[in-house]
Amino acid sequence: MTSDLRDSIRSIPDYPKPGIMFRDITTLLGDARAFRRAIDELVQPWAGTKIDKVAGMEARGFILGGAVAHQLSAGFVPIRKKGKLPHATVSIAYSLEYGIDEMEMHEDAIAPGERVILVDDLIATGGTATGAVSLLKRIGAAVEAACFVIDLPDLGGAQKIRDLGVPVRTLMEFA
Ligand code: IMP
Repeated sequence: MTSDLRDSIRSIPDYPKPGIMFRDITTLLGDARAFRRAIDELVQPWAGTKIDKVAGMEARGFILGGAVAHQLSAGFVPIRKKGKLPHATVSIAYSLEYGIDEMEMHEDAIAPGERVILVDDLIATGGTATGAVSLLKRIGAAVEAACFVIDLPDLGGAQKIRDLGVPVRTLMEFA
């Protein structure tokens, strides 16, 4: 990766609370060249291979995941916070920094054996992505990979996903 994609990320100190450095991808999304490049680089290992579905996590995973799905000629599946999806769902509790929350997807969104890539903007502790991988596996999806624009490797999340047997693709790291 050359420096310009990394330069398109805005870092905001003390957001959402003191001591947290928030990595803001809205500046990448708003830069046409950086957005295209990020999507091209995320999908590059799967160019020409058959991916059935891309699953994106609410909310920034929807923006990136929709573009990734389009690029791979795959369908898109939203994984949402509890209570947002209208049809029958499967759900899973997952850990946040403080406490737990629940995420859901439509139970018929992915057929058993379909090849799926999971997408989100950033992986930190891996709590969100671990929950999503478990949910996808539970409905029988073949989870081919998990992709993130940003990895915070000090928090160990990407390694947790690799330990589940799912390859991880990230475009940049922040300490
Ligand atoms: P994890 O569950 O600890 O891996 O946190 C990842 C989730 O929190 C993802 O859904 C991210 O969108 C969100 N998140 C955590 N920190 C940041 C950040 O600095 N920038 C953008 N999103 C973040």
